[in-house]
Amino acid sequence: MAINNLEGYLNKYKNGNLDLNLKVNFNNACKDQLFRAYANTITLSDERLSAYTSKLEIAFKEKSNCINCKSLSNCKNELRGYCYTAYVNEKDSLTFTYESCPYMLEEIQKEEVAKNMSLFDMPRDIRNSKLIDIDIKDKNRTAAIKWISKFIDDYHDNNHIKGLYLHGSFGSGKTYLIAALFNELTKQGLKSAIVYWPEFLRSLKSSFNTNYEEKFNYIKRVPLLLIDDIGAESVSAWGRDEILSSILQFRMQEEMSTFFTSNMSMTDLEEHLSITKAKNDRLKSRRIMERIKQVSTEMEIVSKNRRN
Ligand code: ADP
Ligand code: MG
Repeated sequence: MAINNLEGYLNKYKNGNLDLNLKVNFNNACKDQLFRAYANTITLSDERLSAYTSKLEIAFKEKSNCINCKSLSNCKNELRGYCYTAYVNEKDSLTFTYESCPYMLEEIQKEEVAKNMSLFDMPRDIRNSKLIDIDIKDKNRTAAIKWISKFIDDYHDNNHIKGLYLHGSFGSGKTYLIAALFNELTKQGLKSAIVYWPEFLRSLKSSFNTNYEEKFNYIKRVPLLLIDDIGAESVSAWGRDEILSSILQFRMQEEMSTFFTSNMSMTDLEEHLSITKAKNDRLKSRRIMERIKQVSTEMEIVSKNRRN
């Protein structure tokens, strides 16, 4: 009994000292006017706050770091893109969590978009193309831009609509326009893929033992597909009759929106696709063109070369 009493007394004494230490630490921290002002924004008594001085100091420092921060790469916090933050919880004590900062939220959103837009042999900066940046004063693009806006509206109601076959000279912004359209729809959660066609065929040919099937099936089934620069490939019977033809056949049957960019009109492409090293095969190229026409609408874009 006596021993218990002694223990109780010692504990009380220790706790009293502890409380005192906590208060001293908190008061010391509050000598910094800014920390004091920060602590005032939290709706708890100083007595309660004093139990968290060291955590509050970290949260205060992180919050201060955020105030003048310009970008994620300048982040000075412990966890890049996150701010250690105090919240008053239901028990009237504090909970600390890592809150993502606005720059981090933006990056997370971009990553989400990136996951939904697959690029095959395309430069990564194509992800930065935005409809909002398109020069609407350029009259040569009016028709294409109108078409794109209508597509966005219509696609929400019916995703079995034709894509665009956009042709025109090198550097006229064809790829940019369609990529901007995809970016817009991808932001809304839809999946898309852009395939640089000449390179895709080359890499497909050399990847039979690797992820060939996976790639091939992916682009066959992705809801929005752009076959970029069709006509710039060197035509082979294999690329035309096994790869292109079966992708188009599937997409035609499933009525999946398919886009093309090309330096060639449909008529020129038909000619181009008819000539392989082995022979001239009009029938095969005509069959491909029939499928292209089933899945897309032809449009020409005339514009100056935008490449530097
Ligand atoms: P194409 O596919 O017709 O050969 P691109 O789409 O590759 O042309 O465009 C050529 C260059 O011009 C690219 O570097 C692209 O980023 C840029 N570009 C095209 N359209 C725009 C635009 N509206 N705003 C900004 N840059 C653009
Ligand atoms: Mg292009």
